[in-house]
Amino acid sequence: MKETDKPCDLVTESKYIVFEGELMQLFATCCEPTTGIIDQRVNTGWGSMLRIIQDCDNCHYTRTWNSQPMKGNLPLGNLMMSATIVYSGSKVSQVLRLAHIFGLKMFSR
Ligand SMILES: [Zn+2]
Repeated sequence: MKETDKPCDLVTESKYIVFEGELMQLFATCCEPTTGIIDQRVNTGWGSMLRIIQDCDNCHYTRTWNSQPMKGNLPLGNLMMSATIVYSGSKVSQVLRLAHIFGLKMFSR
């Protein structure tokens, strides 16, 4: 989370469903044209958050990208989704079932 981000900005900010195959196209190259091998490590296990660690063996460019803003070690999208489920009156079991059927990464109970 950037210093200028305010919680209400994150609430009103648009969020999107992104397919992994489409997203990984963005990480197939490094910042420079290269013939090097780009190592992409996809780190899941953060509920709805995805972390991509990219290393280029040619120019040694490396970066870590998170799909959600973080507050310390807490992915804020997971927190906001939990709050949204509660405040919308939705049943957690139904939301998690919908996510599972759709293939949407989500935290579990
Ligand atoms: Zn490179």
